[in-house]
Amino acid sequence: MEAVKNFFSSFMLLEMFKGLRLTGRYFFSRNITVQYPEERTPISPRFRGLHALRRYPNGEERCIACKLCEAVCPALAITIESEVRDDGTRRTTRYDIDQNKCIFCGFCEESCPVDSIVETDIFEYHGNSRDELIFTKEMLLAVGDRYEKQIAANREVDARYR
Ligand code: SF4
Ligand code: SF4
Repeated sequence: MEAVKNFFSSFMLLEMFKGLRLTGRYFFSRNITVQYPEERTPISPRFRGLHALRRYPNGEERCIACKLCEAVCPALAITIESEVRDDGTRRTTRYDIDQNKCIFCGFCEESCPVDSIVETDIFEYHGNSRDELIFTKEMLLAVGDRYEKQIAANREVDARYR
């Protein structure tokens, strides 16, 4: 009985018409393809993208060179060197993040006691060589300076999840 049913099903091209019905349904429905980069989907405020080093409103670096982020980084992507300034405060003289190694786990920003190293929602960056993806302190501070407003807004939303 099953064989007869299959025979007529094949003979009448039922499977093909079923497929065409599905195609027809989507052919006339609203197009949901996003035309990136002209169109963009929303990004979570907790998105973990390019790193940034932040400053306080008075321009002073937040980072106190405690090296917690360096210690916690599972990919060994962070390299910090530091010195004590004349006023007794400790600051970094070198702060590199090797984006070739980074796995964007977010441990560095979680560990930072002063909200200095953060991951922004920037994902559109590239390097033409591995060297160009090693972000120095100056580069990270520049990212922080440029996107501070957005970073601060995202951190505020992020705090609500905790
Ligand atoms: S996001 Fe994770 S892997 Fe990347 S630098 Fe921070 S701690 Fe290291
Ligand atoms: S970025 Fe934060 S955790 Fe890393 S060394 Fe500076 S203060 Fe410490």
